[in-house]
Amino acid sequence: MKTESLGEVSEKDLIEVTREIGREIREFAKKISEILNIRLEKVLDALNLARAAEIIDIKVEGDEIIGIRARVPSESRPGHYYYVTVGYYGYKCNCEATMYRGRICKHVLAVLMLWNVINVFKTGKALDVYRIRWLHEQHQPEKESEGELREDSTSI
Ligand SMILES: [Zn+2]
Repeated sequence: MKTESLGEVSEKDLIEVTREIGREIREFAKKISEILNIRLEKVLDALNLARAAEIIDIKVEGDEIIGIRARVPSESRPGHYYYVTVGYYGYKCNCEATMYRGRICKHVLAVLMLWNVINVFKTGKALDVYRIRWLHEQHQPEKESEGELREDSTSI
């Protein structure tokens, strides 16, 4: 019986697959940066924040992931979490930045990035940004100082 080994060929495949995953995540991050008119650094911050998030629920319809629910730890209040829902149907976060200002907060951005990562793993492709309607309804000011994503409510 022939035994499978991590020979040169399978390692090449592994490199190719992981490269594709990375590329999809990177391209999505760039699109988000452009659509929301925020610096790529902010998107990367969100990606890092997404790693600290805990997934509560993944909403699947057919073979699609249509949204996720997660909790994101507050960066200024230890032990405090924000509950975030993000999907094709909309977005929601219980932090004050979202509730009172109606603007996308960094928690929503983090969970959006997380949703995309899960989607890339499952389907091999990034989310279609044009299907996420609410993304295009965000009117981020062009001025850098005002274009900053809201910090936790305590900093306002
Ligand atoms: Zn929030």
